[in-house]
Amino acid sequence: MISRSFNTIEISRSAIEHNYKYIQKRVSDNTPVMAMVKADGYGHGMVEVAEILSNLGCDRFGVAELREAVLLRRAGITGDIFVTLGFAADETELFFRYDLVPVVYNLESVRNLSQQAVRHGRDIAVHIKIDSGMGRLGLLPDEVKSFTEATAQFKNIRVKGFMSHFPESDDSRSPSTRNGHKRFYESCRDLKNKYGAICHIANSGAVLNFPDTQCDMVRAGIALYGYDPAGATADGSSVALQPAMSFTTKVLQVKKMSAGEGISYGHTYITEKDTKIAVLPVGYEDGYRRALSNRGRVLIRGQFAPVRGRICMNMCMVDVGCIKDVKPGDEVVLLGRQGDEVITADDLAYQVNSISYEILCNLGNNNKRKYIG
Ligand SMILES: *Cc1c(COP(=O)(O)O)cnc(C)c1O
Repeated sequence: MISRSFNTIEISRSAIEHNYKYIQKRVSDNTPVMAMVKADGYGHGMVEVAEILSNLGCDRFGVAELREAVLLRRAGITGDIFVTLGFAADETELFFRYDLVPVVYNLESVRNLSQQAVRHGRDIAVHIKIDSGMGRLGLLPDEVKSFTEATAQFKNIRVKGFMSHFPESDDSRSPSTRNGHKRFYESCRDLKNKYGAICHIANSGAVLNFPDTQCDMVRAGIALYGYDPAGATADGSSVALQPAMSFTTKVLQVKKMSAGEGISYGHTYITEKDTKIAVLPVGYEDGYRRALSNRGRVLIRGQFAPVRGRICMNMCMVDVGCIKDVKPGDEVVLLGRQGDEVITADDLAYQVNSISYEILCNLGNNNKRKYIG
């Protein structure tokens, strides 16, 4: 048996359940919530998160790549699984084998889907991707009508949805969300009625800040995992969310150090006075970003201990000079709660000029995960 790691990601099932129910409460009755579980569920485990939500009746899941959708289906997840990034021509058949929903933005992929659909003697539903202001993937609003009509001409293709994405819905004061919503809705309103399709654009930020952009479905990612996309600047509209991930390790060694000694590569920290330093088995390889060198802090015995010196590949050092009785084997919390204190992904993100999304992916996808309650 391979021995276990010192480091553990813990995922709270009940937090994810709570967040899903909270999102449902924030949208109108009967507006379905698509759970975005790409990037291995933002580090929380794609299949595990989908299973937790399936048990609550969620039957729409969104991933980026076809590969992820296949894994979900093979794991036994039922319902609609949306592939939002497109796909290679030679993989088209997988949509039929695994009964997946493609998001399309070029006629080449529609043609490939149509040929396979005819071959399989069945129809396939597609959703059309629109770029209504994100400046990313999708058709521009003035291309939507001709593209949709061309798509609908292909044999066995059914246009069942229109989707777009918001660039700034985390900012409740930005006019861009209302403008983008209007541009999106106007580009597909008539077509949606003509083809009996739905439209969807709202992400977590829109669910929390712009309830009138819900359309026929919302797509929630970060809020499911317990974070407001506005991060440390969140205005409190999401206080009810519960972060689902925590990250803990154990102290490897505690040593006395005299004033004036250098710590870690490059000696970027020199002890100012006699102190105690705890060595932790966590480094950038575990997703604990090197940019946290001399910036991060961890919790030991319920108190904050600052990171000293550079974070190495598999280790980092923290100052425990002010914490009594720290011993090898003591629990260390790098993300989450210990005693009365807490470190959130927003705290870590703030220290390295990033966002909770990236912190969660980095930690969750580079450590062994354990599921609790
Ligand atoms: C990731 C993603 C979302 C979810 O965004 P959050 O900000 O995490 O809620 C919604 N739609 C698409 C297309 C996405 O890729």
